[in-house]
Amino acid sequence: MVRIGVLSLQGDFLEHIEILREMGVEPVVIKNVADLKGIDGLIIPGGESTTIGSLVMMRRLERPIKELADSGTPIMGVCAGAVLLAKKVIDRVVGETSQVRLGLMDMTVIRNAFGRQVNSFMTELEVEGVGRVRAAFIRAPAIVETWGSARMIAYVNHLRLGRFGAAALQDSILAISFHPEITSERKVYNFFLSMIKK
Ligand code: GLN
Repeated sequence: MVRIGVLSLQGDFLEHIEILREMGVEPVVIKNVADLKGIDGLIIPGGESTTIGSLVMMRRLERPIKELADSGTPIMGVCAGAVLLAKKVIDRVVGETSQVRLGLMDMTVIRNAFGRQVNSFMTELEVEGVGRVRAAFIRAPAIVETWGSARMIAYVNHLRLGRFGAAALQDSILAISFHPEITSERKVYNFFLSMIKK
């Protein structure tokens, strides 16, 4: 059985665990370094990237997660998780930040790009390799730039703010700025699971 780790320090981890279970995948609760052993993939959920980043440091998970990425184990970062994956992070209000991050993807994100909690929205968008999905944006980051081997695989057209990257892929690392666990969008999970080498 495929075993997918879900980083369970803060945020939406329970929802991911539930969906994985429904899909017949074994979710593994990741709180400490030892929990990473033997997983086939890792999900970094949405929540608050500054909080998750601090907890990652406190629990000394930074290097083991980087090593996991280096070994080709697929990683999916959702919303705050996508912020943590980015090499460069700009906060919509305070500008470039030095908040703790994993920096595994060649991309720049703007945190809270679409505004505050009240500016949350749902839309439909097309993700390359995934298809059409329902997407919930909650204080979501926008992916504004990719370079190196990272590339944009989805865009969102915001009525007022314009067009931004909503998902990016770099080898076996996937960043998405919306929440598939909220809309139970299994297509996104199937895409992620298909990245696992059999
Ligand atoms: N705004 C949050 C952050 O930058 C992300 C919000 C979310 O994960 N829904 O950490």
